[in-house]
Amino acid sequence: MPQPFAIAGHILRIDLTRRAVSIEPTAPLNARFPAGMGVNNWLLLEETPLGKEPLDPENPLIFTAGTLVGTMAPTACRMTVSCKNVLTGGFGSASAGGNFGPELKYAGFDHIVVTGRADGPVYIDIDDQAVTIVDAGELWGQTTWETEQALRAGIDRPTLELLSIGPAGENLAAAACIIVSHTRSASRCGVGAVMGSKNLKAIAVSGSRTLPVADPQGFVSESLAMQRYLLGVDTTRNLRKFGTSTSFEAWNHLGSIPVRNFQATQMAADEADGIATAVKEKRYIDKAFGCFGCPIMCSQYQRVKTGPHAGTRGEKVESQDYWDFGGKLGISDPAAVIALSELCTRLGLDNTNATNPIAWALECFQRGLLTPEETDGLDLEWGNVEVIGELLEKIAHRDGIGDLLADGSLAAAKRLGRGSESFALHMKGQDLAEEMRVFKGWGLAVAVAERGGTHTQGGPLTERMPLDAELSMQRFGVPTAFDPASYEHKAELVVYYQRLHNLLEIVGICFYATYWCGMQMMGPDEVARLYSLATGKTKTGDDLMAEGEQILYLQKAFNMRHTDFDRAADYPPDRMMREGASGPHAGARLDRADWDQLLDQYYDLRGWDRVSGRPTPENFRAVGLPELV
Ligand code: SF4
Repeated sequence: MPQPFAIAGHILRIDLTRRAVSIEPTAPLNARFPAGMGVNNWLLLEETPLGKEPLDPENPLIFTAGTLVGTMAPTACRMTVSCKNVLTGGFGSASAGGNFGPELKYAGFDHIVVTGRADGPVYIDIDDQAVTIVDAGELWGQTTWETEQALRAGIDRPTLELLSIGPAGENLAAAACIIVSHTRSASRCGVGAVMGSKNLKAIAVSGSRTLPVADPQGFVSESLAMQRYLLGVDTTRNLRKFGTSTSFEAWNHLGSIPVRNFQATQMAADEADGIATAVKEKRYIDKAFGCFGCPIMCSQYQRVKTGPHAGTRGEKVESQDYWDFGGKLGISDPAAVIALSELCTRLGLDNTNATNPIAWALECFQRGLLTPEETDGLDLEWGNVEVIGELLEKIAHRDGIGDLLADGSLAAAKRLGRGSESFALHMKGQDLAEEMRVFKGWGLAVAVAERGGTHTQGGPLTERMPLDAELSMQRFGVPTAFDPASYEHKAELVVYYQRLHNLLEIVGICFYATYWCGMQMMGPDEVARLYSLATGKTKTGDDLMAEGEQILYLQKAFNMRHTDFDRAADYPPDRMMREGASGPHAGARLDRADWDQLLDQYYDLRGWDRVSGRPTPENFRAVGLPELV
């Protein structure tokens, strides 16, 4: 079978139990499924045994870099990892930018499938097609940054890229993430714990191969034109200047962030202003930088020079970090948010999945359900930076109360009981970052996401952007996309963004470079032009959006095989229905009857069964996946 253009051509398989390495061609699977997450999801579905716990060594942990990753297409940098979800028992995935994905392809690999469990700590060293499993006993217990430093000192290759886990992954905390390229985080679903369960501390990669594209001249010219175009767009200028943190103020103004474990939806002005002002003044920003091939450069080197957190050198603190630490835990000092975010990076903790059980514990303490005797003597007050830092350390090391919190808020609430389940905010078992009451389409996307509780599988940011009816019709096929209170047309928006997000998972382009972030950014047609020139397969935006559907169905099939998720799993936490929002939409909450109708509309649009919330055999055939019937 001839080697397709743009892809690297090989799947690397590593069985850590047997310390066996094998390499096979990607082409046969690429001929059947979309590259990147298409093949990844298929491998996960086929090779995850039934009835095993997520941390069972037999389960695979599968890395991929999408079709355009490593080429000149703007922002084509994403690396995604799939596994059985530690928090939900269903489909799990996490994605990161940086440079690891491109380097993996330069080494000749589109996927790494890791199975088994090494008999002691190891790391995998990939030097082009030479792959070695190396003992890493001396790295076990070290933070991600210490690990990276030690590996860089020992491996003398100029293009070396690394990913690693910290103590959180070693100790199998459900909030453990994988840190990529120093500060990028492949977060959610406990991917770091799965890596830890295999005794795998890190992966090092460097490559020297090229990625041939079908039409080199046309592709270079189109990529450069798109890079130049993006550079001139307002959304890019804003992201480059302030990073994604720029949206914190607007979101808080709209009363749509989680505050004190979702007890409110807007931070008080005196608490939020400090954060918003520091962002606007770029107080802690040294300079902007970007992931591989990115003209947007939404990341910043951050440095705190004075005060109790002086010496902190963070990178890419995002709007969501301000929801997680600022809103959810009540911290109003932006320097403290940067410091705690950096601590999470070093410990290998995912900010959202780590802060949620802490928020649950703080609320339990507030309500007298947890006493100081049960918190290792810690006074669990909202906004106490030192205590929150200590709790993060305890979670990563499963120390004292950290052991209770390390498996996520739902597991903690089940262990504690005392009615604390009401304060565990999760979807399908995965901890939540997203406030769901105010923006109905946003809430729907988070509720139905297959990996549980995420806005990156269909969350329509468009709901927050006033669009005229003509543009809304042209882009999304609905006359209005902007009315937070309305349930109308929100199902259509969610389906559109699910397809777009899945398309981007196929090609490995950053969401921020697309319509998701602004109507002037790239849409499916622009991505399809780059894809066609690179691969030599002529596709329209609609064609690629249709391929995106296969990604969703593969995830759905995994959940149908490994969980009992049905319609009931698509309802938001009770708090979103029982307690009203604060801020400009004060009192807004999700209405049960309206939610029922919204779910019906969503299932109807997809042609799924309303009662079970599941696709029918005809649906699988219609999207080109008859083998899943
Ligand atoms: S927009 Fe930001 S996150 Fe996306 S590729 Fe560029 S620097 Fe990375």
